[in-house]
Amino acid sequence: MGSMGKVLGVGLVVGCAVAMCVVAGTMVGKRVKSRRRWRKVVKILEEFEEGCATPVEKLRQVVDAMAVEMHAGLASEGGSKLKMLLTFVQNLPNGSERGVYYGLDLGGTNFRVLRVQLGGQRSAILEPGVERQPIPEHLMTSTSEVAKFELFDFIAASLQKFVEKEGNGSVALEGKLRELGFTFSFPVKQTSVSSGILIKWTKGFSIHDTVGKDVSECLNQALERRGLDMRVAVLINDTVGTLALGHYHDEDTVAAVIIGTGTNACYLERSDDIIKCQGLLTTSGAMVVNMEWGNFWSSHLPRTSYDIELDSESPNPNDQGFEKMISGMYLGDIVRRVILKMSQESDVFGLSFSKLSTPFILRSPLIAAMHEDDSPDLREVARILGEILEIGDVPLKVRKLVVKVCDVVTRRAARLAAAGIVGILKKMGRDGSGGIASGEVRGGSHSKMRRTVVAIEGALYTSYTLFREYLNDAIADILGEDISPHVVLKVMEDGSGMGAAVLAAAYSSSGQDTL
Ligand code: ADP
Ligand code: MG
Repeated sequence: MGSMGKVLGVGLVVGCAVAMCVVAGTMVGKRVKSRRRWRKVVKILEEFEEGCATPVEKLRQVVDAMAVEMHAGLASEGGSKLKMLLTFVQNLPNGSERGVYYGLDLGGTNFRVLRVQLGGQRSAILEPGVERQPIPEHLMTSTSEVAKFELFDFIAASLQKFVEKEGNGSVALEGKLRELGFTFSFPVKQTSVSSGILIKWTKGFSIHDTVGKDVSECLNQALERRGLDMRVAVLINDTVGTLALGHYHDEDTVAAVIIGTGTNACYLERSDDIIKCQGLLTTSGAMVVNMEWGNFWSSHLPRTSYDIELDSESPNPNDQGFEKMISGMYLGDIVRRVILKMSQESDVFGLSFSKLSTPFILRSPLIAAMHEDDSPDLREVARILGEILEIGDVPLKVRKLVVKVCDVVTRRAARLAAAGIVGILKKMGRDGSGGIASGEVRGGSHSKMRRTVVAIEGALYTSYTLFREYLNDAIADILGEDISPHVVLKVMEDGSGMGAAVLAAAYSSSGQDTL
């Protein structure tokens, strides 16, 4: 009996052990599976990071490519993806301007109306306030014949309200129109300093039957329809405005870069180097060239499968390739695509429905907020994943993964923008390398290096600290410690609109362009 009991007892013990083994077995299986899935996600990250790598040697290749493409774009019409558009701006403000002028900045998320009052002697610009407002989405993409005037009518109405609010003291002089600097930041084929033809829409705009039209005329007509005593004195884009304002404050300013919704750059070129316009006569011997660098492309750019998909699903495939890697409109969507891929290959973001497949749901300020989240448990990351993407309960290590994706995307963007800037300096012979034509080796005498100021604007640089730091560091890396102290990046707050008004002043006093 005793032995029976023993046997039974053993049997029970064995039975329990088997059951426990089964439980432990599934747990180990789960853990192995989840570890495998985690490895998969990490691999996606690693591959992405590798694809986005921008070591300084690679950046130098981008610098060279930019300078070469600039040459090509100046040599002939259509000679490069860089359009290198003439702006007809040959005199930049120098601080002596006087009077009251208006600025209007259209070309991105918001549009701005402003007024400047200049007192000469590089006086501080007195502005009774800048007005910003978002552009109603339906005006950005009118597709019908009737709708095509709506955007310009909307702008004219805003200008009118702005002028009316100023009250007296700023009444236009008898018989004299108020002069407006119009910043229109889309590719324009300029026909004079105050007029130009729209080449194409970018940044999500697309308005029926406006490509090929004179942009100033469209606005002037809208102003007239409202009976407003104002006319477009200069038509420029945001980079030119930023350069103009930079030059108003500091005469060493020779180039300007914008990194906002889109990205672009301009610089002061010698007329002799604008080969495609042979015999271009300018009184100053120079002209501002609008590079339209958002369309820059080079095989040296580190491109990933996510970039290729973003491009092919965009309304303008094969277009604005540089912009799609750099500017505020796209950064968030690259991040989204990487996270989406991770969520498809594993369950680290949970299995339930999320908003990850909604294009452009992650805007770049959200990327910045997650990237710069310094709370120990990454609370902001969790909040954004939860509230915006509807992904709940993400463990800390997955939040860290998301931060890393933001970091990779932003770092690449900032460093490529830096390479672009140095490319311009190289074209101008101000990168210390002796320019692209001469085979001069680096490391010569830099004692004669001129101080070079690049004006910069756009929320990515001004409001996204890590982006700014990555960009600044990359410029220093590329130029090296001998040259980089001679290059200064100066933020021109509201440069695009303010610069337009200041340039309107410069052109009002100095008269017409001589072309
Ligand atoms: P625009 O280019 O429209 O003239 P901005 O220079 O203000 O105007 O840039 C707007 C772009 O910058 C938008 O794409 C917006 O999402 C992005 N942005 C705004 N603030 C931030 C921020 N703090 N961090 C990152 N991106 C930002
Ligand atoms: Mg802008």
